[in-house]
Amino acid sequence: MSTERKGAFRVLIAGGGVAGLTLANALEQAGIDYLLLEKRDIAPRMGAYIGVLCHTARVFDQLGVWNRMRDASLGLTGRQHFDEHGRLFEDSGVFKFITGKTKRPFLFLERHFYLQYLYDKLKDKSKIRTRCGVQALTETDGGVAVTTDAGEEIHGSILLGADGIHSTIRQIISDADNPRFTAHYRTLFATSHNHFADDPSRCFLPESMVHNVYYRRSSGVAAVGAPDRVFWLLFVKIDSPATMPNFPQYTEADIEATLRQYGDRSIGAGYTFNDLWASPIGGGMVPMEEGVVDAAWHNKGGCNSLLTATASEKSTINVGLGGNTAVEGVATFMNLLVPLLARNPKPSHSDVPRARACVTLSHYVTRFEAMDTWWLRMLRWLSPWFPDSVKAKAFLDFMKPAPILNFLPDPDRSKA
Ligand SMILES: Cc1cc2nc3c(=O)[nH]c(=O)nc-3n(C[C@H](O)[C@H](O)[C@H](O)COP(=O)(O)OP(=O)(O)OC[C@H]3O[C@@H](n4cnc5c(N)ncnc54)[C@H](O)[C@@H]3O)c2cc1C
Repeated sequence: MSTERKGAFRVLIAGGGVAGLTLANALEQAGIDYLLLEKRDIAPRMGAYIGVLCHTARVFDQLGVWNRMRDASLGLTGRQHFDEHGRLFEDSGVFKFITGKTKRPFLFLERHFYLQYLYDKLKDKSKIRTRCGVQALTETDGGVAVTTDAGEEIHGSILLGADGIHSTIRQIISDADNPRFTAHYRTLFATSHNHFADDPSRCFLPESMVHNVYYRRSSGVAAVGAPDRVFWLLFVKIDSPATMPNFPQYTEADIEATLRQYGDRSIGAGYTFNDLWASPIGGGMVPMEEGVVDAAWHNKGGCNSLLTATASEKSTINVGLGGNTAVEGVATFMNLLVPLLARNPKPSHSDVPRARACVTLSHYVTRFEAMDTWWLRMLRWLSPWFPDSVKAKAFLDFMKPAPILNFLPDPDRSKA
């Protein structure tokens, strides 16, 4: 069966995750036709969560989903750092400092809600097709044709591969130049109730607080980003780094083995990873892949396909930049597409250098938290002596050049 479409410009999107749904909202608001194909369901519940940094909050504000995200979560205000002996060595005011400068809080919310809000905001739900995976891609006169796993052929002017870390589109278009993503760390991630399983009156952390703990070759973070929800991660260095396409898929047995080895370590004062795991809502374990695809834009003989978000770059999770960079990628793409559409030009892949900055920053924070080298251990000992303003500057400098959607009003300017 073929869904031929001639004439009008139409964007095909493979993947309805962070990048795909953000792009769908932006295209709808720009009045550009599109069709999104998602292999599974929208907004699955997996116990995962996601952070929204101040610069991406502006894009979500433009798209009309920011208020709902903000209402579903608590802004993060405090951050305490503990050493391997459970000693508090730094009580940081960085979040307050950054929020004061940007006038927007750092948010953490369940990924399920984040995606659901993006989906709910779309007026025309007929443009979203679930349980419809993209399997193949061919060039056509007018642009591109994809074949779904049900054998249907769908035509569009351009294809955006937003199908995540195991991207089918990347495998098709990057040919022999396949990206060399590697994983040196794995992460056990989970959402738990914010109280001990055997004593609901005892909370792990105060609301809006983040705890970081530093061990040799492992580290952890826990944050109360929503009422009665602790979002937490245990990062562990892998003995033999894995390279694409041989990333491990971790099982329940692997999670149990990791907890047997690291679970009795404390994160903050008075609770351990095992205590959090005993109050579960959901979670899992994944390798933390790192890398950027050089050829994110593919235009051989007129077959227009572009990789975005984790299909083209993947950073470690410690800083919480991956999803935020996906939103930036969407803004960059839209800012090229909207003004250029009338002249039918070929967009460039100018979002790639920015993706590299995200991967590099995340790379160092992962290794800093796991005290990977002697100089990073030294830096951790020195870090309490640096003022919050110096530490916040790295983040503020990173967020400053982030794009918003040029075709929609700047929400900060409208409010002012
Ligand atoms: C535990 C954890 C915590 C994280 N925390 C943060 C955080 O705090 N802040 C942050 O910014 N980032 C965070 N990230 C990273 C963030 O989740 C990713 O960067 C983000 O999801 C990337 O968006 P994406 O759209 O590329 O991929 P995804 O959101 O993974 O979406 C890809 C979609 O494509 C679909 N798909 C796959 N193959 C096909 C196909 N062939 N055809 C059609 N559809 C397909 C999948 O079903 C999926 O829905 C975290 C990641 C993890 C694992």
